[in-house]
Amino acid sequence: MLTSICGINWGDEGKGRMVDLLSRQFDVVCRYQGGNNAGHTVINERGKFILNLLPSGILRENVVNVLGPGMVIDIRHLNEEANRLREQGIRITPENLKISDRAVITMPYHVLMDCLEEERLADKKFGSTRRGIAPVYADKYMKKAFRIGELLNPELLYSRVKEIVEWKNLTVEKGYGHAPVSAEEIVEYFKKYGEPLKDYVCDTGLYLNEANKAGKNIMFEAQLGALRDIDFGIYPYTSSSSTIAAYAPIGAGVPNLKLTNSIGIMKAYSSCVGEGPFTAEYFGEAAETLRAAGGEYGAATGRPRRVGPFDVVASRYGIRCQGADEIALTKLDVLSGYEEIEICTAYELDGKLVREFPFPDVLDRCKPVFEKVKGWHCDISHCKKPEDLPKEALDYVKRIEELCECKITYVSVGAEREAYVKMN
Ligand code: GDP
Ligand code: MG
Repeated sequence: MLTSICGINWGDEGKGRMVDLLSRQFDVVCRYQGGNNAGHTVINERGKFILNLLPSGILRENVVNVLGPGMVIDIRHLNEEANRLREQGIRITPENLKISDRAVITMPYHVLMDCLEEERLADKKFGSTRRGIAPVYADKYMKKAFRIGELLNPELLYSRVKEIVEWKNLTVEKGYGHAPVSAEEIVEYFKKYGEPLKDYVCDTGLYLNEANKAGKNIMFEAQLGALRDIDFGIYPYTSSSSTIAAYAPIGAGVPNLKLTNSIGIMKAYSSCVGEGPFTAEYFGEAAETLRAAGGEYGAATGRPRRVGPFDVVASRYGIRCQGADEIALTKLDVLSGYEEIEICTAYELDGKLVREFPFPDVLDRCKPVFEKVKGWHCDISHCKKPEDLPKEALDYVKRIEELCECKITYVSVGAEREAYVKMN
């Protein structure tokens, strides 16, 4: 079985916690895009973990984890993240972590360029996580990037540094007027952070094909959500990679394999980190209440997330982009205590109702149209079965399912691994 777990919305839907839960039936978990701008929070019997680069499967003893060729990997961050997890008692060895030789290395100068550009943009900034993601993907497509496999051939790697640094300084030094990048420092950097990773490097495509042939179950874990996809998201307020399920086999190294199914992770309300159009956004007290209830502060950056009610228009689009066969609806418990809960069912644009997610340029002119449903007042975090949920909570789930035209199979009611309801 080849299953993708993807975000339907703007990211932070709770993918990490669902991967942690569902990975018990899987042998391999792969990340296939993005870098350490991801922030997946997982709480289970082993503790609380924040994962940026490592797949959430790393927390299960018998799962093999893969960082695919579609990723951009900050090797310093990877070393530090792995060591932090080891201190928390997690085993990470070449047996349970495989890093694609084709994945691209995020360099310190990519992080620098990300910061320099956000500072240049000042009040027009994009809200980048400043982890160097856009600059490193740009270099990948400029064919000026370093790849993980090069760490295995240091002499050749070091010989390329001078030429790349010369090119990079045309922008860093001559463009932004910053102190130049030093070739010697880059070589030292590779020695310090590349060496310890050597034994983990392999052709993940070959590994995954063998695993698939042997009948292993493989899961693909996405970062961010459909609305942040470089092609289908709210460009330019997107990430720089493909966050969609259809890209998973490519980004993991197995373009020859087809997904068995796609599970979309969708939040019971909306949240969005950074800039860009967010039609159903709450402001003032409504936003503060929801943000506090949902603990909506970025796992990677600590930034307060923008929040709003569930958005049917954006979510239906997200479901379509992800080709989701089923949905896990997360964080339903956060909505407990409301007299009435709003659902954004359509947008109004120039006096007309819009039900299909439009080209992003017009989103700023769209106004949310709300439907109100009855809320519930009890704590639902202990619920295990649909019958345990108060009628209003179940009705809310059913209404979302109906509006989105996609089956909801899981509902999460707490951050801990076992805090979920399996729907019939
Ligand atoms: P991801 O990036 O999609 O993996 O999501 P994040 O980890 O960034 O954000 C989800 C946040 O919600 C994390 O802090 C989780 O611990 C938390 N969380 C996940 N599921 C639930 C849930 O069902 N209820 C509550 N209250 N919190 C949840
Ligand atoms: Mg996150």
